[in-house]
Amino acid sequence: KRENILVSACLLGVNCRYDGGNGKREEVLSLMEHYNLIPVCPEQLGGLMTPREPAERQRDGLVMNQQGQDVTSFFKEGANETLKIGKLYGCKRAILKERSPSCGHGVIYDGTFSGSKIEGSGMTAELLEKHGIQVTGESGINVI
Ligand code: SF4
Repeated sequence: KRENILVSACLLGVNCRYDGGNGKREEVLSLMEHYNLIPVCPEQLGGLMTPREPAERQRDGLVMNQQGQDVTSFFKEGANETLKIGKLYGCKRAILKERSPSCGHGVIYDGTFSGSKIEGSGMTAELLEKHGIQVTGESGINVI
């Protein structure tokens, strides 16, 4: 039986990114040959529209959009929904888009909308890990 792996939908070519675009990566798509890829977009699952204001995680853990609105509750909801799907499909691993306030793992933008980065993870990556789902960024898939 093929392993089910959660994948950020934008990496698979779904236009769910904040700007209405995607971040399609052929090397992620090609994993379909060996695995069942389960596409998820935590921000859409959390009830946010596409396109939407860019948002970044702040140093205090909250998520603010560029207009200064606190959108943490949407991100929390999206993380919970993604975890639910992960459990439903028995996923042990997730390949998530790097640096996102939802999907980023280990390194994220620092909350100043300046392109600077800090150590930390997005809300979904954090929750999945807490529940034993191993998170890998798209540049780390050669080790999958
Ligand atoms: Fe991609 Fe994750 Fe952002 Fe959705 S929330 S657009 S899947 S990085």
